[in-house]
Amino acid sequence: MPAPDSIDALVERLRPVLDADALITDRQRLRTYECDGLAHYKVTPALVVLPRTTDQVAAIVRACAQAGVPFVARGSGTGLSGGALPHADGVLIVTSRMRAILEVDRDDQRAVVEPGVINLDVTRAAAPAGYYYAPDPSSQQVCSIGGNVAENSGGAHCLKYGFTTNHVTGCEFVTPAGEVIGIGGKAPDPPGYDLLGAIVGSEGTLGIATQVTVRLTRSPQTVRTLLAGFPDTDTAGAAVSAIIAAGVVPAAIEMMDALAIEAAEAAVACGYPDGAGAVLIVELDGPAAEVDTQFDRVAGFCRTCGAFELRIATDDAERALFWKGRKSAFAAVGRISPDYIVQDGVVPRTALPQVLRRIGELADERGIRVANVFHAGDGNLHPLVLFDDAVPGQAEQAEQCSGAILDICLEHGGSITGEHGVGADKAAHMPKMFTADDLDTMQMLRCAFDPATIANPGKVFPTPRLCGEVPGRHRAGSHDPRPDWPAGVEVF
Ligand SMILES: Cc1cc2nc3c(=O)[nH]c(=O)nc-3n(C[C@H](O)[C@H](O)[C@H](O)COP(=O)(O)OP(=O)(O)OC[C@H]3O[C@@H](n4cnc5c(N)ncnc54)[C@H](O)[C@@H]3O)c2cc1C
Repeated sequence: MPAPDSIDALVERLRPVLDADALITDRQRLRTYECDGLAHYKVTPALVVLPRTTDQVAAIVRACAQAGVPFVARGSGTGLSGGALPHADGVLIVTSRMRAILEVDRDDQRAVVEPGVINLDVTRAAAPAGYYYAPDPSSQQVCSIGGNVAENSGGAHCLKYGFTTNHVTGCEFVTPAGEVIGIGGKAPDPPGYDLLGAIVGSEGTLGIATQVTVRLTRSPQTVRTLLAGFPDTDTAGAAVSAIIAAGVVPAAIEMMDALAIEAAEAAVACGYPDGAGAVLIVELDGPAAEVDTQFDRVAGFCRTCGAFELRIATDDAERALFWKGRKSAFAAVGRISPDYIVQDGVVPRTALPQVLRRIGELADERGIRVANVFHAGDGNLHPLVLFDDAVPGQAEQAEQCSGAILDICLEHGGSITGEHGVGADKAAHMPKMFTADDLDTMQMLRCAFDPATIANPGKVFPTPRLCGEVPGRHRAGSHDPRPDWPAGVEVF
């Protein structure tokens, strides 16, 4: 732990480096940054800094390294696993002033951007040249590219186009020692170890991305979108399997169950088919002739599997309405429940029907409701576990149900997270998926970047070990649900 006066000394050291208003020490203002999208975990940071340049980030990190003060990077703070949860004795490095799009290179199909750039702004900048940035988290209007890189974020269209890792070709990076390094560039597939692959998805534990080179994707000639109403999730799931088994790769296949539809209707009046137990949104894109042929096949599979209503978007406005219900689903759940947990797990696509049934049983056993919204094409579930904190015991039931859903995902050969990351929230679940040796091996990589473990400590790993410690001495044998919180964490 840093000495108590370390932060004061750090502030004095950083004053000449940063703009006067880029150092936040006032307690009230610090509290603005106390959580990310997982709002029930809160820690007030000791200091918040708002750098504008890579040199400033490097200077801040160097100062932290020399003082032994931990730091946490924060983009837009939309993360849903507590990844940007501050450290009580540490510095929160916020990239919201690093929002320049430095280059849109149409010929090489690349954009070079600062880390605080909002995901959708990359597409806006590339659109006049006929390109867009494919990874599209539902939070794309607010989340940052740096956060996307750290979380290896996905979105509805990642079924066809891949996750963030498939769209980042280069990165300028500040290591936890405060060195600025360049990894990759505009060219694909550099020789040597895939360090870019290690950085994407590292959740801020290896350093801070200060510039990112992303791949741009040609805007498709045609996009066609279909909304299908099914009696239940089994029949909708069968349609998903039939579509994929036939070799059709839609840009997106999204499913919502009855409760998720109810919430979306209450929030945005999206007009989904009456009485649907599940809806599918299927989108195809590409050359017009190919899309038209595949679209007819998709519609046929939906009908054969039991769809009782099919709607085809006739224009952009109708297409946007189909998506509005889906994209607003998380927030919409707030209309039908005072509190909810957004879970994120993955199962093989074929296991979806069994897993959804098991989730229903789990909810019934506990007397709570679970709404399901998910990227059906790649088996990435987002169960929304509804509860009322005012009802004694319900929050605990919801927490247990949410954790048990991850166990079901693992039993079916899946994963504890699809796209929201491990962060602080799921660190305790890591030993269910990885052996102690696996975790030690991952920590060896972390230690190679960050021997002092000052970059986002307390995240991802259930029990950190200091670099140089003998592997295994501090292995996570326990099932303590919150074994490794940063000091000062409050759990509500
Ligand atoms: C309504 C809603 C819908 C969402 N939908 C999706 C979805 O469809 N798909 C999906 O994948 N996620 C989704 N998310 C989660 C979230 O938006 C993503 O994880 C996003 O990538 C986080 O970006 P951010 O800028 O908000 O990062 P933050 O929350 O600020 O940080 C996230 C992590 O990245 C690290 N970090 C941030 N910037 C940097 C940097 N420059 N260098 C190194 N590390 C850094 C932080 O330390 C932290 O660990 C959703 C969230 C919400 C609230």
